[in-house]
Amino acid sequence: TRGRGVPFRVVLLGGSDVGKSAFARIFAGAADSMDIDDCEIYGDETSERTIEVDGEEATITLLDTWTTEDDGNCMAQEQSTQTGDAYLLLYSITDRASFLRASELRITLRCHRPARHTPIILVGNKCDLVRGREVSVSEGLACAAVFDCKFIETSAAMQHNVWEAFHGIVRQLRLRRDSK
Ligand code: GDP
Ligand code: MG
Repeated sequence: TRGRGVPFRVVLLGGSDVGKSAFARIFAGAADSMDIDDCEIYGDETSERTIEVDGEEATITLLDTWTTEDDGNCMAQEQSTQTGDAYLLLYSITDRASFLRASELRITLRCHRPARHTPIILVGNKCDLVRGREVSVSEGLACAAVFDCKFIETSAAMQHNVWEAFHGIVRQLRLRRDSK
């Protein structure tokens, strides 16, 4: 079983432009302002950080290695869906196609890891864009219920609920670890 000091591998999944890199930058500590596009310096797709959740430290290795479907990098995609300890499955609430894509990815995850109960949080990002909303909160909740995962709406631009998502995944990973 996993020791307490070993990092959890958390993978960001989702269609393009949903905010995966914005999440990665916040995690890496690069985004102190709302102007998240200022931080393109983060070419590195992997970052590691120790955070405190419920009074206990947890080290996360965050992977933003998921590539868009078009570039056909199947190896990288397979690695992403097979090597994570947990997944943040992102869509944009302003993009219904990205919501459908998240469902497909959830099914892919289930196929690649049938026997394991892998912690997954469905993340509806860009909730600051109220007027552009194409996916309602109740649809997000219903989808998460069907797929047996947690759900949260976030805004990487406003840094709203992003850390809550990371904390949530750590809590689920601990539950899983402690039940072994
Ligand atoms: P990725 O393709 O999933 O990595 O998406 P990015 O992180 O590159 O984000 C795509 C675009 O959406 C960028 O222009 C971001 O600035 C913007 N973006 C990301 N998150 C949010 C958010 O929560 N709200 C708003 N309004 N824009 C966001
Ligand atoms: Mg990206």
